[in-house]
Parts: sequence; structure tokens; C-alpha cells
Amino acid sequence: MPIHEQSLIRPEDLRTHDQLVVDGVDVSGHWSTFIHSRVVSDYNEELQEQIASLPGGEHIHRCWQCGSCTNACTVNAINPDFNPRFWIYLVRMGLESELLRDKEIIWQCVSCNKCTYVCPRDVFPEGVMKALSHWLELKGHTRKSPAMVFDEVFTEQVIQRGRIEEGRLIRRFFARTGQALGQDWLVEMARRLLRHLPLGLLTRMGLASLRAPRTRGWSGARDALNEYVQEQSAAHRRALGLSELIETARQDASGASGG
Ligand code: SF4
Ligand code: SF4
Repeated sequence: MPIHEQSLIRPEDLRTHDQLVVDGVDVSGHWSTFIHSRVVSDYNEELQEQIASLPGGEHIHRCWQCGSCTNACTVNAINPDFNPRFWIYLVRMGLESELLRDKEIIWQCVSCNKCTYVCPRDVFPEGVMKALSHWLELKGHTRKSPAMVFDEVFTEQVIQRGRIEEGRLIRRFFARTGQALGQDWLVEMARRLLRHLPLGLLTRMGLASLRAPRTRGWSGARDALNEYVQEQSAAHRRALGLSELIETARQDASGASGG
């Protein structure tokens, strides 16, 4: 049973009559408001399964639509259009095109986990938000958000070196997101660090940034992690039918070149 929250009804679907009398009763203006019915013909019957196959989305089927997540949500408090409960409903109903109308705000979740603490069904809505963002990106509906780029750079550094070096991390993140390093706030932060940190620590930080240190004996762990990440990423693409698309495109391309 759908929940009709007024804020979720698209303005273009509302119908009113300036002048309307029904059986002698004047129902002009908002008294005669109707919601225009829609015919949905493009259900994605696999949408819930696809989200459940991505990390964080595993328990989406448990949701009973109580709305506690949205009620507690930090982002919803400043933007009522940010509505985890509604998106979980759309996924469970397979309403992909409806979900895509909100694709530019879904990734704005700040991972505060307030929703997760209040959820009575252990759906882990914060994880579902992550799975949704990941799904949008894998399907090519949105570009990678800066937060995702940061996660990638961070993970790459951990896997390759077994430790994090902040200077390198920030430089790579800025380079990949096309941001200039000379931003005022960053220059100010560097100035304050230089002013307040002990010389010995600053020297060690500078050397670490140049040498990019790695954890001793890390190569075995690095190979195992790389293998695991590749396996997981292939599994996610398979679950979304993306590997089939790639294979079909490859076959089409080889057929075209053979002809
Ligand atoms: S984790 Fe995301 S969805 Fe959950 S309450 Fe925080 S901002 Fe809202
Ligand atoms: S709090 Fe949990 S059960 Fe309630 S709507 Fe949100 S995800 Fe569903």
C-alpha cells in the first residue's frame, strides 16, 4: 500500500478546478484537488535484488515502511526531498524511473547512521543509501561523487602500501577531482601546521610524503586484497547484468569488424 505524503506528489500530477460544483456543493479550488493517476509500464523487477547484491543493501527486504529513518535523518532535516523511506519503497516496487528522478540527491547521505540506530527492522538504511549510490554509478546514471573518489584513493593507498600518508592522499584526491591545491583553506591549514607542529614531526611528515612509506612484508596482504576487490567488483557487475552488456558489446564489435 503506497503512502501518499503530500510532499512526494509531483506538482504536475495535481489537478484542481477554479470553479466546480458537484451535486450542488461548491468544491472550487483546493477542495477539488485530484492526483492524476499514472500508468507505470517500466517496472524493473530485479531492482530490489540488484540493490541487495551490493554492500549495504542486503537487508532492504526487511523494511516495513515505518518512516523512522526519514524522521531521524540529518539531511532530511534540511532538505525534505531527501527521503530514505521513499527510496526504499521505490526500490521494493521496482520503480526505477521514479527513483532516477532523485538521482542527484541520493548520494548526499552523510553517513551519520542516525537512520540505522532508529530502524526497528535492522534494515541498515545508511548501507542502503551507499548501495543506491553505488548502483547509480555502476549503471552510469550519475558521475562518481567526490566522496566516492576519496574512498577510491584512500582504498588504493591502503591496498598498495598498507598505510596512509595524508599529503599524498590529498594530492591524489585533488588531482582526480580536478581541484587546485592552492585553495585558501588548504593554504591556511598548511600555514597553521607549520606554525604549531614540532619541527621533528614536520620533518617526518615531509619525508613520508616524498618517500611514500609502506608496511613491511605487505606484499602478500596486498595481493590477497587486490584479488578480493577484483572478485567483489566482478560479482557486483554480474549482479547488475553489466558483464553481459560488456560481453554483448564485445561480440557486436568483433562481429562488425569480422563482417
Ligand atoms: S546515514 Fe544518511 S540516510 Fe541515514 S540519517 Fe544519516 S544522512 Fe540520513
Ligand atoms: S526505519 Fe527501517 S523499517 Fe522503518 S522505513 Fe526506515 S528502513 Fe524501513
